[in-house]
Amino acid sequence: MADDCTVPDDRTSELSAALDAVRDRIARAAADAGRADVPELIVVTKTHPADDVVRLAALGVAEVGENRDQEARPKAAEVAEALGDAAPRWHFIGQLQTNKAKHVVRYASAVHSVDRVELVAALSRAVVLRRERAADEPAPLTPDPSRDLDCLIQVDVDPRADADRPEGIGPRGGAAPADVAEIAAAVAAAEGLRLRGLMCVAPRGLDAEEAFRSLAALGEELRAGHPDAVRLSMGMSADLEAAVRAGATHVRIGSDILGARGGVG
Ligand SMILES: *Cc1c(COP(=O)(O)O)cnc(C)c1O
Repeated sequence: MADDCTVPDDRTSELSAALDAVRDRIARAAADAGRADVPELIVVTKTHPADDVVRLAALGVAEVGENRDQEARPKAAEVAEALGDAAPRWHFIGQLQTNKAKHVVRYASAVHSVDRVELVAALSRAVVLRRERAADEPAPLTPDPSRDLDCLIQVDVDPRADADRPEGIGPRGGAAPADVAEIAAAVAAAEGLRLRGLMCVAPRGLDAEEAFRSLAALGEELRAGHPDAVRLSMGMSADLEAAVRAGATHVRIGSDILGARGGVG
């Protein structure tokens, strides 16, 4: 047995085992689907503390996701303080108000939830401002404040009209498929932003794989005009295998690695 200072704490051991299990599931799903590549894992750390992000970084996690600026902002600052350049990259994956864009671009290297032209403009202005002020920042939260922000367009892949969804099932957010081309053109033209692909959340009560395949088809259409927009961010704890079969390049896994969340998130 190694001495105390090299023995991981219980929480690290727990995270390590859960992380290995999820990495195995991803690798197995990719192999079963006959894929030569393995999708990237983004560990969704919402509702869990900065200490867990530090533990995950020590276990080799380089990409983490958060869905609320109010929670992510102080967490990213705490992790930057603890890890400096070794901090993981932050992916913002939740509904984003335009007035929060200036905060989010200080720590996020990617936003997966771009869902309207108005938000594109706000993100672009925020990145430009971040660059202008980079020299004055005491400690930049992004590894390279001059780089472009990776943008994915979140698409609402639920074919049901609002009125046709069962009681208690609301929309999962995102742009209508018909609006993707316009938003993509806005991202591609905006200073400081880089169009990387599409994101979705499977609609509740429908077949997840079918929904993911519809996002993959939209991605193929998008790449006709935007060849760099190759990412498909789809798949969560409950449906990661379906997403990998449908061609996910990035899966976003929270509860199966960090444990159940309380009421929020
Ligand atoms: C919370 C969240 C996830 C992770 O969900 P789990 O079921 O905990 O794996 C993925 N994507 C988005 C957009 C989320 O909000």
